[in-house]
Amino acid sequence: MSASITTKSTSTQDASSLSLIAAHSHISGLGLDDNLQPKESYQGMVGQLQARKAMGVILKMIQAGKIAGRAVLLAGPPSTGKTALAMGLSQNLGAEVPFTAITGSEIFSLELSKTESLTQAFRKSIGVRIKEETEMIEGEVVEIQIDRSITGGHKQGKLTIKTTDMETIYELGNKMIEGLTKEKVLAGDVISIDKASGKITKLGKSFTRARDYDAMGPETKFVQCPEGELQKRKEVVHTVSLHEIDVINSRQQGFLALFSGDTGEIRQEVRDQINTKVAEWKEEGKAEIVPGVLFIDEVHMLDIECFSFINRALEDEFSPIVIMATNRGITRTRGANYKSPHGLPMDLLDRSIIVHTTSYSGDEIRTILSIRANEEEVDLTGDALALLTKIGQETSLRYASNLIAVSQQIAAKKRNTSVELQDIKRAYMLFLDSDRSVQYLEENSSQYID
Ligand code: ATP
Repeated sequence: MSASITTKSTSTQDASSLSLIAAHSHISGLGLDDNLQPKESYQGMVGQLQARKAMGVILKMIQAGKIAGRAVLLAGPPSTGKTALAMGLSQNLGAEVPFTAITGSEIFSLELSKTESLTQAFRKSIGVRIKEETEMIEGEVVEIQIDRSITGGHKQGKLTIKTTDMETIYELGNKMIEGLTKEKVLAGDVISIDKASGKITKLGKSFTRARDYDAMGPETKFVQCPEGELQKRKEVVHTVSLHEIDVINSRQQGFLALFSGDTGEIRQEVRDQINTKVAEWKEEGKAEIVPGVLFIDEVHMLDIECFSFINRALEDEFSPIVIMATNRGITRTRGANYKSPHGLPMDLLDRSIIVHTTSYSGDEIRTILSIRANEEEVDLTGDALALLTKIGQETSLRYASNLIAVSQQIAAKKRNTSVELQDIKRAYMLFLDSDRSVQYLEENSSQYID
């Protein structure tokens, strides 16, 4: 690893977490009011009031930094919004707080050991907010407006000094960095900024030449940069995850691995050095640790070794908030020969805050399905929504939700713009829910291999 640690990267998200999130794209928060009370239907969240209230308390604890060393367990029947609640919490925490979603079974792969997969997931969920001093153009800016009414034969304008505006030049610096113009603006230069496109044009040292402002529309704003200190240093802040820092600084991998997602095993020495460096930065006030959220769905798929890893990791100095979800009752813990609630060993259960989710009412299912249809830009007739709701009640919310896109395809084939009752019926006949699939298997068991 090079002596200086690189932290610049482009944020990446692998395909599995993207698909996990797409089903929840309608959720923009936990749907709580200012007093952290859940509203019936808000920010895409419907019902599940007790659990949302509990998550609101957890949100407050996280924000106050009071949840270290603990985990949250969301327990409840399938399709009752456990993943949705974790997503909502992460949205309320803000975009800067890293959120990683994995499924218990993902940990078992041929390429990475279980502990390496978990370590990567943990480190993806810890943000490092780094403060850096960068060269930015800054200085006193005089904004000048040209009054075109005074032409006096020659096209010369009257200058009105409007403002001394630091913000404008800050914006300007950013625009140039984005590559809108490659030219550096120097002290004394006159530039024009087209308000509509944001395009910056350098006019040289004088703006009084007729052809300069003649060519500009009325929407053009002229800025003259005065002599003086233009090149000041400006502090910028960016947040990266510990995992990103690991990958970029790992000699075998390099930053391209961030795009392929194929990061392989990362050596412990690399991580140790990075931990030391980050701790140093923290000490010097150059960096702050932003504990993010690691969501582990189907946590009962993990085995006893993984659970003991999580137990230890929660005590680490750099630990994210771990939210686990399960739909299992009392079941065997993988890798052990005892049963326990939710398949979790007692010591991990003991340090977990348990939040239960419960089944939805018909009204709640209808509201969620209509929000999903809206999100997928599918127009459902009243009858179609009523049938879909009934299907949701009798099978599962997820199955009914999946039928939205299928029935839209069926309607589109008939060149219909809205989905009607018949389309839902057809989709229901074409695609089996789990109960009917089991029934089919039982009826045709002779054709399958046991
Ligand atoms: P499983 O145990 O099967 O993993 P889950 O409890 O994690 O299920 P989700 O995946 O969160 O369930 O919910 C299924 C679908 O219903 C998702 O699209 C989710 O966004 C949506 N959903 C669930 N609950 C709510 C809710 N209270 N408000 C809005 N949408 C919800």
